Amino acid sequence: MSTPVLAARGLCKVFNGFAAVSEVDLSVQAGAIHALIGPNGAGKSTIFNLLTKFLNPSAGRIFFKGEDITDDDPADIAQRGLVRSFQISSTFPHLSVLHNVRLALQRPQKVSFRFWRHERCLDSLDAPAQELLRRVGLEGALHMRAADLSYGRKRALELATTLALEPEVMLLDEPMAGLGREDIHRITELIRETARGRTVVMVEHNLKVVSALANTVTVLARGRVLAEGGYEEVAANPAVRSAYMGSAHA
Ligand code: ADP
Ligand code: MG
Repeated sequence: MSTPVLAARGLCKVFNGFAAVSEVDLSVQAGAIHALIGPNGAGKSTIFNLLTKFLNPSAGRIFFKGEDITDDDPADIAQRGLVRSFQISSTFPHLSVLHNVRLALQRPQKVSFRFWRHERCLDSLDAPAQELLRRVGLEGALHMRAADLSYGRKRALELATTLALEPEVMLLDEPMAGLGREDIHRITELIRETARGRTVVMVEHNLKVVSALANTVTVLARGRVLAEGGYEEVAANPAVRSAYMGSAHA
């Protein structure tokens, strides 16, 4: 198999003596939609925090395209193209939808736009910003304040501001959390579309979404990898059923 685009080896995180993540090995193949699932408290969000270095691992190494990034800081990691979405801080509520995406397009990570800080130069980002907003279905909301968008449309805007960074690997932590059926369908299609040409790693509780999108599923329980494979394969695994599926459908 080719070198994984993102990998963890022996990843551990201990909080005050409690092992939240234990000896996790993870290999994410380039171009995959790779889902992390498991019961609440399994360590999924902690793993995302470790992979993006929002937390320092207690042990283990992290590799991006074969390079050891364990000692990088979160900004270095974003610069490399490993970007986490669905963080509240990724949009500015008082600014318009269009302005939010223009700002994302000229963030420091985007070296070619580094010197283009003047408002007039920002205008030159209108066309790419509008194109991104069309892709996420917000072309009709360009001049609305981000704060005034519905919850589902805020999620779409967050996806647009993340895509503006042109991440090679995008990490999504529970992208469907709090969404209604319509929005779940819409964001599912959006993730499928935006996954073309990049890698997506997602933590998701909605198993219908996982089965519809993921090529590979890693099941975590109590900080450890319980199973890994295609959705059908892990869903049929008795250990997974008792640890996860059973509780999820109880
Ligand atoms: P998941 O995302 O799978 O629901 P988390 O990664 O959020 O699980 O949490 C895994 C375990 O680690 C939980 O028991 C949680 O209480 C604990 N935990 C997470 N973050 C911290 C922290 N900053 N300090 C102490 N314990 C934490
Ligand atoms: Mg979580």
